[in-house]
Amino acid sequence: MSFRKRQIAVALILIALFPLSVFGWGRTGHRIINSSAVKHLPADLSLFIRNAAYLADHSSDADYRRYTDSTEGRKHYLDMENFSEYISHSFPSDYSVVLAKYGEATLSSYGINPWATVWTLDSVTACLRRGDSTKALAFAADLGHYVGDAHQPLHATRRYNNDHNVHTRYETSMIDRYQSEIAVTPEIAHYVKDPFAFVLNYLYASNALVDSLYSADARASQAANYDYDSPTYYAVLWSGTRSFTLRQIQSASVDFASLLLTAWMNAQKSTDAGDLQPAIRQESSPYFAVYPNPFRSTGCEDVGPVMEFVIGSQALVKLSVFNVLGERVASLFDAPLPPGKYFTCLDSSRLTSGVYFALLHVNDRTVSRNVIFLK
Ligand SMILES: [Zn+2]
Repeated sequence: MSFRKRQIAVALILIALFPLSVFGWGRTGHRIINSSAVKHLPADLSLFIRNAAYLADHSSDADYRRYTDSTEGRKHYLDMENFSEYISHSFPSDYSVVLAKYGEATLSSYGINPWATVWTLDSVTACLRRGDSTKALAFAADLGHYVGDAHQPLHATRRYNNDHNVHTRYETSMIDRYQSEIAVTPEIAHYVKDPFAFVLNYLYASNALVDSLYSADARASQAANYDYDSPTYYAVLWSGTRSFTLRQIQSASVDFASLLLTAWMNAQKSTDAGDLQPAIRQESSPYFAVYPNPFRSTGCEDVGPVMEFVIGSQALVKLSVFNVLGERVASLFDAPLPPGKYFTCLDSSRLTSGVYFALLHVNDRTVSRNVIFLK
């Protein structure tokens, strides 16, 4: 048997011995997250929209690689509390800094999900820029997997399991039983200016759910008299975690879509249009300006910020503003409009200082502007 064949045989035996489920949302959850992400994308990203089935079919490839690649496993989680940076929210984006501080052996145990996610995002971007859609899709499927894993609360904590294996029961057995109740609703993906901060943000959100998950498990264990195969256990676990589990899957799907949109926009930014594949070539973007920027306004009666755009023909126009957490803070247009020049302004009276992202969708084209608010 060749070395490669032996590796595959070993992997197949290991897959048979250890269910894949211990490694993420289980196949079901990862399929849902990867396939639904395209719902949130503008039509320009047709490469991904046309290949939603590919993204679903390869949503667990990264887990299979763990059997043959010893460097893969650490990419799927972050035992956040083990890092001294946890309390101060000061994880460095530069991997060489954490590597120098903790060393490879420790990081392989603590996990490196946020850095690995950004590396994979970089790979999707580079493949799009080169016009290599095959590899872009493969890296995109992995990207969705890493985003999905980080939204599973037990992948964002050093308390990732207990002695009766809540990890597998929560992410696979429960999800498989209740998958018919899981539905992802369309939202609007947005451009992510700082991907590392974005990933850490959702990891902290996952980490905040760990105690709730454990208390739901304790209630379910008691109700089922510690029979972990009983329907009662799963019914109580599901009712105790349902609301945040549905929210985590929805967020994973939208956050994955936002990173795909970011890769696509960055690929276009730094390349010559002639290098782009037809699938991702963008037509001339609509004129869209925000001024003054930075702004200090408290509302439309003041100095701004004015948002101005021009459309050359009848189009469906959506104009929304998002904060750095990806939450929509304003929806300014969502209607079919005749050709012309349009002005609107953002009411900043309830906004805090910081960076915001204005996204203008004109039919299937998207333009974004970073907007800085100084209070
Ligand atoms: Zn995984």
